[in-house]
Amino acid sequence: MKRKTKLIHGGIPSDAATGAVSVPIYQVSTYKQEEVGVHKGYEYSRTGNPTRFALEELVKDLEEGRRGFAFGSGMAAITAVMMLFSSGDHVILTDDVYGGTYRVVSKVLNRIGIESTLVDTTNLDAIKEAIQPNTKALYVETPTNPLLKVTDLKAVSQLAKESSLLLIVDNTFSTPYWQTPIKFGADIVLHSATKYLGGHSDVVAGVVVVNDDKLGEDLHFVQNSTGGILGPQDSWLLIRGIKTLGLRMEATEANTKKIVDFLSGHPTVKKIYYPGLESHPQHEIAKAQSGGFGGMISFDVGSEEKATEVLRKVRYFTLAESLGAVESLISVPAKMTHASIPAERRAELGITDGLIRISVGIEDAEDLIEDLKEALA
Ligand SMILES: *Cc1c(COP(=O)(O)O)cnc(C)c1O
Repeated sequence: MKRKTKLIHGGIPSDAATGAVSVPIYQVSTYKQEEVGVHKGYEYSRTGNPTRFALEELVKDLEEGRRGFAFGSGMAAITAVMMLFSSGDHVILTDDVYGGTYRVVSKVLNRIGIESTLVDTTNLDAIKEAIQPNTKALYVETPTNPLLKVTDLKAVSQLAKESSLLLIVDNTFSTPYWQTPIKFGADIVLHSATKYLGGHSDVVAGVVVVNDDKLGEDLHFVQNSTGGILGPQDSWLLIRGIKTLGLRMEATEANTKKIVDFLSGHPTVKKIYYPGLESHPQHEIAKAQSGGFGGMISFDVGSEEKATEVLRKVRYFTLAESLGAVESLISVPAKMTHASIPAERRAELGITDGLIRISVGIEDAEDLIEDLKEALA
């Protein structure tokens, strides 16, 4: 099955009980048992729900793993994955990891003894230096948010294997349409499905795919124990969103290239971060491991004042957090998504006050460019 076909026919594409071509919303908490312990595979919807299961099977197929899981948010998914570890375990993470991931490891998981170190995972030596005897996993986000740094999945996978570490990849920005980290050796792939998978700014969700049956059992145990599941209505919305993922990603890619071309020649734009540019430090790696470069662009306009002005002037770019939807969004990471990262740390990473991040939607590129042209003038 090719990629767009899989989005439609992967997982459980229809309802076995009725033939309904859209898996119904099984809005139910419990299931009648014929006798004690005799049932049709479902007992209670925290443990399993047919609509959620259809989504979980679909994402499993898209990421080419062994088992899928759906959670109430990306953060619930990330937290559940971290609950595979115990007090005294250590995890190495990409340094400009999503702000919420940084917050949960540095302010919540640390309190229960799960230690973490942030390193530039584009630098293999930096990862090697951070490995401790109690290190259990390497957690990579690629491309990153908002600087779009790209980690070499094949190389980090090899390093993880040599050091007996689990490789966990946050694949939110690329989506399985462009990038399938399990093929490069990842053990666990996760997403904020709130972004491209859902794609319509109408659902908050997270998904995880594991590439090993034992990991699948362990994660199901955590999911069922801690209970951060996705409800049936939102599971259905995600299945619906995923059907058009291919079309949306192709349209986003085309728009993004045109916008990058426009920004590249603009005098107000001091620096552009986009993995599709030949000048991007990891351009060749991005090209080798992803079918597309995605719809995220960050660019520096030099000052907070200028950034504020641009955000005030745009009409089609909606000033909002989040990304990956049909509508184009614009934000200033330092003041919004990355505000929970201390100013000093932001400066170290290069997340300046003049840095603008856009998530390119599927509107007409001409309108988006016109909008940016006027805002930057
Ligand atoms: C948004 C996001 C998350 C968190 O997901 P939520 O659905 O907002 O909880 C995690 N990782 C990345 C890369 C994100 O963009």
